[in-house]
Amino acid sequence: MSRYTDAVCRLCRREQQKLFLKGDKCYTKCVMEKREGGPGIAKPQRGKPSAYSIRLREKQKLRRMIQMNERPFERRVADASKAREASGDHLLRSLELRLDNIVRRAGLATSLKTARQLVKHGHIKVAGRAVNIPSYTVRAGETVSLSSKLKENVGVKLSLDTAKKLNNRPAFLEFNEADLSAKLLRIPERGEMSFPINDQLIIEYYSR
Ligand code: SF4
Repeated sequence: MSRYTDAVCRLCRREQQKLFLKGDKCYTKCVMEKREGGPGIAKPQRGKPSAYSIRLREKQKLRRMIQMNERPFERRVADASKAREASGDHLLRSLELRLDNIVRRAGLATSLKTARQLVKHGHIKVAGRAVNIPSYTVRAGETVSLSSKLKENVGVKLSLDTAKKLNNRPAFLEFNEADLSAKLLRIPERGEMSFPINDQLIIEYYSR
């Protein structure tokens, strides 16, 4: 499976939007605030984009925000289109509840990449059991916690400080500072999700 290994800021410049791929640096030293235009483009392109291009870019934005390859992302959309609720809502909710995203939103990691690393290396427990699958869907009532071995880790401390400073933990998570755990109190509402995206355009892209 291919993995994007080039500079991630290029992806934000390509989408002309901050995708927050670099953790705390995105809040302090973002190149998007200094430079305009996509990779290799001095200024944003002129001219009206086609309907296809608008939908494609929206899909790419979300895929890059959640850092998924095309195939698994396509499967998520296919599952969402079979759901009883609105496909877009189902898609965004299923991405929001991924274990790596919950770890990030709880403030245990500043970026999705670091959160995924914590999960893959077995440092995250769900309801007391180690889970090393980043795509695991966290259910309401479950508690996600960090292994006690990592409590003094410099990266984790930095993430916790950043979360405290930004004060941006969502209301659907109850964070416990003493044991570095977060309980999912309820399913997030639309306005509480991390992805500022037009989901309808993405569903339309895949229904071509
Ligand atoms: Fe994107 Fe973060 Fe780089 Fe800014 S610093 S361009 S938000 S990855």
